[in-house]
Amino acid sequence: MVSRVVFGRGSFNQLDEILAPMRKGRNAPFIFYVDDVFKGNHWLTSRITLSYKDKIVYVPTKEEPKTSQIDQYVEDIILAHSELPSGIIGIGGGIVMDIAKAVSLMLTNKGESKDYQGWDLIKNPAIYHVGIPTISGTGAEVSRTTILTGPERKLGINSDYTPFDQVILDPELTKDVPKDQWFYTGMDCFVHCVESLNGTYLNAFSQSYGEKAFELCQDIFLGDNLSEKDSQDKLMMASWHGGMSIAYSQVGVAHALSYGLGYLLGVKHGIGNCIVFDHLEEFYPEGVVMFKKMKAKHNIELPQGICADLDEQQLNVMIDVALSLEPLWENAIGKNWKNKITREKLMTLYKLM
Ligand code: NAD
Ligand code: ZN
Repeated sequence: MVSRVVFGRGSFNQLDEILAPMRKGRNAPFIFYVDDVFKGNHWLTSRITLSYKDKIVYVPTKEEPKTSQIDQYVEDIILAHSELPSGIIGIGGGIVMDIAKAVSLMLTNKGESKDYQGWDLIKNPAIYHVGIPTISGTGAEVSRTTILTGPERKLGINSDYTPFDQVILDPELTKDVPKDQWFYTGMDCFVHCVESLNGTYLNAFSQSYGEKAFELCQDIFLGDNLSEKDSQDKLMMASWHGGMSIAYSQVGVAHALSYGLGYLLGVKHGIGNCIVFDHLEEFYPEGVVMFKKMKAKHNIELPQGICADLDEQQLNVMIDVALSLEPLWENAIGKNWKNKITREKLMTLYKLM
C-alpha cells in the first residue's frame, strides 16, 4: 500500500514541504516527470521549486509508456548525475504515474525493464517516489503495478516495491481535463469496479473498496446535483478505491481485450476499455446497461469499426495478447475459463468493435 497520502484542494502547495526532508544532498536531485500538457502552465509549474540539480522532464502522453522509454529515462539520469536521485515525482495521468514508478524501480534494479514485466520479479526497493495525479480514474496512483508495453507484451511490473511512497491527491489539479478524456479515464474506474465485484477473486477487502468506488461512480456519472468541485473530489476518491479494490483481486474481460487493442493498434487504455466494455453484455449485463446510460447522458460517441479492416493475422496478435493474461480470465470466468473462452469467441468479439 501507499505509505503516505495527503488529500485536499490546494494540497499540491505542500509539495516542497513534503520533499525537503527526503533530499539526500546536492548531487542527489529530485526528478519531476510532468505531463507535457502542463508545459508553460504557470499555475502548476510555479509550484515546483527546483534546487541544486533538480530537473523537470516533460513527458509526451500521446502514446502509452514503453519499456525502451523507461530504460532511456534511467540512462539519462545515470549519465547526468554522480549520485542516485533523492526522489522521482510523477505529475500527470496514468501514463506519468507509471513512468515515475517504473523509473524509480529501474534505478535500483539492474538490466532492462522488459525483464521485470510480470509478478514479483523486482529484487531491490525503488528510489523514493511520489505520485501526483492530475486526472482521475486509473487507480495508478495507488496500485502495485506500472503498465508498460515491451517488445513482447503489454504487462505491468507488479511488485511490493512499485507503490508510491507518497501520494498527493489534489482534485483541483484535474480542473482542465477535457470532457471526453474525463469520461474515458473515469470509466476505467467504473470498469475496475465492475470487473472486481463480478470476479471470482472477490473477497471482503476488494468488495468494500469496490462497492464504495462503484457508488461514487454512479453519483458522478448518473447523478444530477453534483457541483463540479464535488464531482472532481469524488472521482479522485473513486479512482483510489477502485485501484484498492483491484489491488486485492483482479480486472477482467474488458481489460484483457483492451490490452490487445492497445498492443496492436495503440488504442489508449481508457478509451480502449470503453470500446470493449460496450460489447460485453454477455459477461457484465448490469454494468454494461449502466455504462450505456452514462455514455448517453454525457453525449459520448465511441469510435466504431476499429477492427473492421484487420486481417486474420492481426486479429490473432490481439487474441494472443488477450489470452496470455490468464489471471484476468480466471478472475472473470473461473478456473475452467479455457472451456468458455476460445479463440473463435474472441475473434467474434473483436470483430464487433
Ligand atoms: P493519460 O495519462 O493517457 O492522459 C490522458 C490525457 O489527459 C493526456 O493527453 C494528458 O495530457 C491529459 N491530461 C492529464 N491531466 C490533465 C489535466 N489536468 N488537464 C488537461 N489534460 C490532462 O490518461 P490516463 O487514462 O490517466 O492513463 C492511462 C494510462 O494509465 C495507460 O498507460 C494505462 O496503461 C495506465 N494505467 C495504469 C494502471 C496502473 O495500475 N498502473 C491502471 C490503469 C491504467
Ligand atoms: Zn484499467
